[in-house]
This record gives sequence, C-alpha cells and structure tokens, in this order.
Amino acid sequence: MSELLSGMKRTHNCGELRKEDNGQTVTLMGWVQKKRNLGALIFLDLRDREGVTQVVFDPDLSPESFEKAVKVRGEFVLAVTGEVRMREQPNPEMPTGLIEIFVSDMKILSESEVPPIHVQDDDNASEALRFKYRFLDLRKPHMQRNLRFRYKVTKIIRDFMDENGFIDLETPMLTKPTPEGARDYLVPSRVHEGKFYALPQSPQLFKQIFMISGFDRYFQIVRCFRDEDLRADRQPEFTQIDIEMSFVEEDDVMSINERLIQRVFKDSLNKDIQLPLKCMKYDEAMRRFGSDKPDIRFGLELNDLSDVFKNTQFQVFRGAIESGKSVQAICLPKLANEVSKKRIKNLEKFVKTYGVGGLAWIKVINDDVNSDNRVESPIEKFLTKDEIENIIKTVNASVGDIIFIVADKLNVVYDSLGALRLELARLYNLVDENDIGLLWVTQFPLFEYDEEDNRYYAKHHPFTAPMDEDIDKIATNPDEVRAKAYDMVLNGVEIGGGSIRIHNENIQKQVFNALGLSEEESTEKFDFLLEALRYGTPPHGGVAFGLDRLVMLLLNESSIREVIAFPKTQDAKCLMTNAPAIADKMQMDELGIAHIEISE
Ligand code: ASP
Repeated sequence: MSELLSGMKRTHNCGELRKEDNGQTVTLMGWVQKKRNLGALIFLDLRDREGVTQVVFDPDLSPESFEKAVKVRGEFVLAVTGEVRMREQPNPEMPTGLIEIFVSDMKILSESEVPPIHVQDDDNASEALRFKYRFLDLRKPHMQRNLRFRYKVTKIIRDFMDENGFIDLETPMLTKPTPEGARDYLVPSRVHEGKFYALPQSPQLFKQIFMISGFDRYFQIVRCFRDEDLRADRQPEFTQIDIEMSFVEEDDVMSINERLIQRVFKDSLNKDIQLPLKCMKYDEAMRRFGSDKPDIRFGLELNDLSDVFKNTQFQVFRGAIESGKSVQAICLPKLANEVSKKRIKNLEKFVKTYGVGGLAWIKVINDDVNSDNRVESPIEKFLTKDEIENIIKTVNASVGDIIFIVADKLNVVYDSLGALRLELARLYNLVDENDIGLLWVTQFPLFEYDEEDNRYYAKHHPFTAPMDEDIDKIATNPDEVRAKAYDMVLNGVEIGGGSIRIHNENIQKQVFNALGLSEEESTEKFDFLLEALRYGTPPHGGVAFGLDRLVMLLLNESSIREVIAFPKTQDAKCLMTNAPAIADKMQMDELGIAHIEISE
C-alpha cells in the first residue's frame, strides 16, 4: 500500500455530507479554507472543488490529530477521518452546514506557505496578483464554477453537434496565414531557415477544404490566434466553436445554429429561447441602432432629422447637411429632470471620443406648443418653432423627455449615437437583466473601404459569398455589394458570425481582385484554395462562435478573463509563466534568427 495517503481512502467530497449522514465514519481530503483555534477545540473548514465541510479537532478524541491541527494553516492539504455529527450551531449558508466531522485521524498531505492571495471570491486582489498566482486564484469557488460551467457548455455543444451529424475534425496549428483581419503570430521554421508558419487566425480555409473533401458537416472547438492591439476584452489566443456545412444556404446554417444556442441556454441555464430568432438586415440595424450588433433590449433608437433641417437657418446643421453629413437624434424618455448640466457635459465628452464635434440637447418642458417655455435647450434660439415641433414629432418626444442631437458624417453619427444609446442605458438602468436580446444581423456589406489605406477590405473575410443579385457589382460598385453573411448578437455583443462561402473559382478571383490582390499574390497565398475550387466544390457555409464570450455572457461575468483558465494581460503577457520570454542564443541560431539589440 502506498505511503502517500497512509492508507486513507476518500469516501466523500467536501460538499456532500448532509444530516442523513449523521453517525457515519467518513474520510475527506482537501484544502484548509479557514481555521479557528478555540483552545479546547480547533475548527477547520476543509475545501475541495465540491464545497466546504467543517471539521472539528477534539484533544480528548484524538490527541495526535489535535496536535497536528495546531500547526495547520490556510491552504494546507489534509486527509481527515472522523464521525459525522449534527452541528450545535448549524450554518444555513452552507449546503453542509447542518453537520461537522469529529476527527479521529488526520494526515497533513502537504503544507502551504502563507498564500499571497486569499482563496476566497471577494479577496480584492489585483488582477496582476491574481494572474501571477493563478494556481491559487483558480481555487476560488467562482473560478471553479466558471471553468466547470465552461466545460458543461462545451459538452452540450459537442452532444448537439454529434446528434446532428457533425464530425469533430482537427486542423493544423502550424499553417499559412488565413486572413481574418488581424496580424499573424509567426513561428520560425528551423528546417526551412528564413521561412515561417503562421498560427491560425481561424481554421477557415481548412474547414472549407473539408467540405470540398466531402465531410459534409464539420465542427471543432478550436484555439485561434490573432495578434491584435489588445482592445478592451480580447485575448491573443481564444476559442471558437467552428462549424461548416455543405449543400446549404443562409437559412439552413442559421436555423441549426440558433437551435444550438437555444440548447445551450436551456441545458446550461434552464432558460427558454423562442425560435426562429429575429433577423435584422445590417442596414436596418445601423439605421435604428447605429450598430451592427444592436442591443435590442431597450429603445432609444436613432432618428434622422436631416429632413427637419433641410432649410434651416441654423448654420451648424445647415452646413452639415449641405456638405452631405447627417443630423440625427435619440430621445431619452421621462428622464430629462435626472439629466443635469454636468451630466450633459460628460455625455458630450463621451460622444466626442467617437469623432463628433458636439452634442446638442433639447428638454421638452411643456405640453403647450405655444408656451414660451415649451423646451429648454442651448440651441433653441437658433431654431424656428416649426423646427422644434418637427424634431419633437420625429423623435416622438413628450414632456419630460430629453433629446440628444449630433451632426456629422453618417458613420460618425452612427458610432457616436450608437455608443451614447448604450451609455444612457447603462447610466439609467434601462436594461432588464433578465431579458435575452438575441438576434441575427444579416446582409452585411461584402467590402469595407479604408480611407487611410485607400483600399477595400473584406468586411467578414475574403471567402464570403456575395448575394447573387449583387455579383455584377463586385468590380464596378464594390460599396453596394451585400454578402451572404450573418452575425448572431446577444445583448449587444457579437457572439458569432459566418457566411455562405464562394464555391466558384471565378467569383473568388473577382473578390481577390476587388481587394487589390494581384493575380500573383492571390496565387501565392491561396493557390491551394483556388485549385481545390476547380475539382467539384459543394455549395457550403458555416459560422464560428466565440466560446469565451458566450460563456462570459451566460455567466454574467464582465470579462472573458474570468472564464479562461490561463488568460493573458492587456499587453499579451502571461504573468504566471512570464511568457513571452527571451529565447536563448542557441535556439535563435538554430532558427537562423539574429537578435538585434534595440536601445530604449
Ligand atoms: N472564420 C470566421 C471567423 O473566424 C467565421 C466563419 O466565417 O465561419 O470569424
């Protein structure tokens, strides 16, 4: 018999015992959560992944165990054997709170230094400390819950995919670049000095090849790598639920995937989602919400005031309209009195970060159209009575409402009012947290023009099929080409996106062309795809969901770092392992890479 556990065998976990177990002799193993030495008795809370149980050391019962317990501290690992007894002072907060274990035998399996963070949910440790000591941080109940929930979600997904004929197939990690709009992580080849593999930004091309190879339905829960400037809540490596299907059109892909998400909600949270999901065209989403990922759980929709100000004498709006810009407004109902001048100043600062020059506002004070104090507004003096009434009518405002107006290029108006809408909802708690705002956004533009680079980029990726009726415009009017693409949006967050793919070499070449890729470049980069397309390609399409984000939203967490076991910081470091690290000279030499000192 092994010495390790002194012959002790675990009989129960630390979250399991109840009053029905009273009188039983049990053996638990786990970490010391808390210790109270009352002199005559020592109480410990013993923790494992299932919960916490109170154990009691009584010198009369087992002097040796009591002695050992004296030197035990937090995070020691113990095995205890003893009798289950009813507690004199039950703790209703704990599932095991009716009982405790009177210890007859105890072994210290492992000691612990004083831990640099407290293993408890509200320890207030900084993220830097939590990431450095992730092995301790992960012991916290909420991290245990989060990662187990994540596992549950992936299990539900795997089961669903399997039931629906999808096959889990692996794709390479060392590969050629697949453009998804980010920088690649490169891996130098030792054997082919001077050459590099790219880590996949997504398995996009491989999953399409699987369709060309006849696998029909593929899925994979797969790591993807994107070297982006880490905005708010991104990770250089993240996990996608990657899906592809053959012989399908948009509605086929959307229908099976909304059933997948419905199942996830039901089986992980017991929440019901009504299908089919709402579908909103990209144009409508932008027009109404200023965003291609609208949070539809509240109103505050955008209103176009360009007509109202067509002939205005107010120079600011007139100038804007004459130069092709747009004047638009949102109306915050009933809360005008809550919005102070100071708040408005801050909101103006907020929208200015989205590029607008200013934020005009109008409070509707009085019902009487002819009243002198019908509205309160710094721009009132520049507007006619008719204009004011027209604004009120267009945004459907009543007494007590406040209207916010911006004037700028359409995309700037959308960005700023789209963001203002969310900010107002946050500030004034306009969202019912129990609502689930789930929808598809469809018919995205195929291309996006970048003014700085003076060229078109693929809005989704270059393999997305154009809508049939727009194919003719690829070369002539790329701005007008709509894509067979769809995003799934949950509470204002894009949780997944995909498209029907181009399955025809000629159209693929036209799209590469419109993206400014020369014949040679596209051959060099995507030769294998273009060639594969020549040998019998079924119409196909798919989607990818961001698993980290999905799990985060299901758990109502505020960051994906709370649902990833070993996340990186904003600047892409792993504080636990200290990656990335300097490679040693010999490795670099082998790879044919010279290290050049860069002075700070
Ligand atoms: N490959 C795409 C992405 O990573 C998803 C898809 O089109 O299926 O966003």
